[in-house]
Amino acid sequence: MAHTPMMLQYLEIKENYKDAFLFFRLGDFYELFFSDAERASQLLEITLTSRSGDGDNRIPMCGVPHHSVQGYIETLVAKGYKVALCEQVEDPKMTKGVVKREVVQLITPGTITQGKTIDGKTNHYLAAATKESNGYALAYLDVSTGEAVAQMIDGDERALLNQLNAYNMKELVVEETFYDAFVEQAANAGVVLSIAKNSIVAESVAPFIVDVPSYMEHACTQLLSYVEQTQMRALTHLQPFTFNEAEHYLRIDTNSKRNLELIQSIRGGDTKGTLLWLVDETVTAMGGRKLKQWMHQPLASKRLIEQRQQFVSDFLDEFFVRAELQELLKKVYDLERLAGRVAFGSVGGRDLAQLRDSLRQVPAIYAQLASAQSPTLRQFASKLDQCTDIEALLAQAITDHPPLTIKDGDVIRDGYNARLDELRDASRNGKDWIAQLEQRERDLLGIKNLKIGYNRIFGYYIELTKSYVHHADLSRYERKQTLANAERYITQELKEKEALILNAQEESLELEYRLFVELREQLKAFIPRVQALAAHISELDVYMSFAQIAEKYHFVKPVFHDGRAMRIVNGRHPVVEKMLGKQTYVPNDCVLEENSNMYLITGPNMSGKSTYMRQVALILVLAQMGCYVPADEAFLPVTDQIFTRIGAADDVASGQSTFMVEMMESQHAITHATANSLLLFDEIGRGTSTYDGMSLAQAMMEYIHEEIGANTLFSTHYHELTTLEDALPRLKNVHVAAAEQDGKVVFLHKVKDGAADQSYGIHVAELAELPKPILTRAQQLLETFEAQSGDVQIVERIVEKPVEVVKEIIVEKPVEVIVERIVEKDASAEQLSLFSEEMTPQ
Ligand code: ADP
Repeated sequence: MAHTPMMLQYLEIKENYKDAFLFFRLGDFYELFFSDAERASQLLEITLTSRSGDGDNRIPMCGVPHHSVQGYIETLVAKGYKVALCEQVEDPKMTKGVVKREVVQLITPGTITQGKTIDGKTNHYLAAATKESNGYALAYLDVSTGEAVAQMIDGDERALLNQLNAYNMKELVVEETFYDAFVEQAANAGVVLSIAKNSIVAESVAPFIVDVPSYMEHACTQLLSYVEQTQMRALTHLQPFTFNEAEHYLRIDTNSKRNLELIQSIRGGDTKGTLLWLVDETVTAMGGRKLKQWMHQPLASKRLIEQRQQFVSDFLDEFFVRAELQELLKKVYDLERLAGRVAFGSVGGRDLAQLRDSLRQVPAIYAQLASAQSPTLRQFASKLDQCTDIEALLAQAITDHPPLTIKDGDVIRDGYNARLDELRDASRNGKDWIAQLEQRERDLLGIKNLKIGYNRIFGYYIELTKSYVHHADLSRYERKQTLANAERYITQELKEKEALILNAQEESLELEYRLFVELREQLKAFIPRVQALAAHISELDVYMSFAQIAEKYHFVKPVFHDGRAMRIVNGRHPVVEKMLGKQTYVPNDCVLEENSNMYLITGPNMSGKSTYMRQVALILVLAQMGCYVPADEAFLPVTDQIFTRIGAADDVASGQSTFMVEMMESQHAITHATANSLLLFDEIGRGTSTYDGMSLAQAMMEYIHEEIGANTLFSTHYHELTTLEDALPRLKNVHVAAAEQDGKVVFLHKVKDGAADQSYGIHVAELAELPKPILTRAQQLLETFEAQSGDVQIVERIVEKPVEVVKEIIVEKPVEVIVERIVEKDASAEQLSLFSEEMTPQ
């Protein structure tokens, strides 16, 4: 036996969706066949069955009921798979033979718009990339909100994947030629690759790419093509691509974002303990997303930063306006995603009620802003489109509490459409009439428990218990059904009325559905206005969040200037401070001058070096987002980039040696930094032998000093490096103070001028309760090493210095030792003779 016509149809459709699970609509079910069925039955934990196929082979199959398909789709997509949803596109009752079926949507990790992978406060992006001469053109958009962005990524595939990971992008659209070479690497980074063939017509792309440079257009087109190919509908909410020109933002590479724990914690996953976690007091999902975007890309323009600061300071001044506004904003639903669902055609009655209830808050929001003292807030009010016409339309059209599905009716309000009112009346009146009939028949027959019921098969009927049947005059009744102890009848009159009622009901539901779809279409025209409103509201939400945290954590407004100097007075690491409590945290200054802008930070482990370095970076990030900062005073330059080399816990997991990662990050920083950047180098050279590491560290500092000139904080445990202060005029020694008390180290966490005088490593080991013999032995060894390395230093200094100076030095050390070293070091004859003279017993 050959395949049935339906299976042939299946196979033909499946041919085009090889990389997706094909959900094939069959009546009330979606069925999967062949290997799709075998894998899906495992992944979804549903029963695998089979049906007869060609010859003796049975076809594996499994299925899910149509009404619960959403959950199954979400599960597969969350696992990184794609689902092709294939519907019956004609009415089976109207057709002979096989019903026509088509795939109506391809749901993929990057295009899914609802379900467990979608978090309210996070954008869910789909990305596309093309390889360009100097890196990758990256385009990405959030299908649920319609926002679209284009930007260049400098560097190789690793940089590209890093960027995708930083924004939690799960799917990347690429050209076929690029696919094979890249697919595995992408998979390792948790990114699904998809191939797009450009299908979209140039004219329809044009309006979306007006603001992007020509070398970005291909990536944008590729992305739009893919969205069109997978979503298969016109998406009116998609916005033109905005081009993120790197120079307009404070650039922070992905590693540094992670090292500084801006958005993700170093351990990954959990956001607790991140800067975002600390400063996010937004009350809407849209505001949450905007705040995250701002943290990914702080500004690099003094003017724009100051504009944001104005809002924050005004909201600090106008406490009541802020409090009222926040209450109003809490009642605003996710306008961006609601607009997206309108465009998608997936909006339901409840969504429209949410849209209406959100818009209902806008006049009050306007009034609050307009009542403010602040000209900035009043001006902002005047830009606000209150959308009252949209609200009025929805208020007229939608009932107060519509049910979940439109098919149940009760979504469209009475009075919206005359014909609908008529039909509803007819069906309501009909029901009253039935109730009256029931009473009349009871009276006529004198049977109190006569009742009128309804079921789907017989429609309305009159029911009598058997014991009454014989006593009554039933000449007008026609028997329809006999039950164990009752009989059911109909009458002519009842049937006539029934036809009217049921027709009216059916017709009213149909009309209601049609009206809803019309309304949905009508609303598409308003999408850009709702999006603009959403943008305004989310911005307000972020400003108010900034004001709130400034108040709560005692932040101050940073002052920006055009130079490169930086003065932070009593700066704090806001997250560590929150964890430790304000009393415990020790604030610290950071003063970098034009001609003295490098700190070499020494101090024992655990004294707070890396906390200090991070705190400076976090203050800059917050400041350039437009937020206030945790300090008593901050006078700041506009920084173009932040680079960090801070030992991260996950270096090991990445499969590269820690030292290699360290060197690669250093390389990246040193090649990209400018005089306007901030560099944080924590313990460079730790991963190799002492002299090796120390030499590298010194060479890097010299290079940064001579060639780059960036504001730099460099921490080290090589005390030898502190002598560099003499050679590099812009370098300054500072140390994090610790005190010794009863042979134990006490951390003061205070940054002070000058180099640290001791290494407290062994004391820290003691705090960690290492066994006593180890500590004693370490102390012995330390003393030996210190003695030896002292010799080496002296010898090196002797070799380089003129004879007169040497004499002064050698008095400090036993001569035998020095001579021994000197010989090894190829000292000059003159130096040697000097020593032999010294050696001669007097
Ligand atoms: P290092 O880099 O010198 O080894 P860390 O910066 O990791 O030290 O700091 C070690 C610990 O010291 C931190 O976990 C924190 O609890 C505490 N600490 C750091 N700086 C401060 C400070 N300014 N005030 C109070 N405690 C601090």
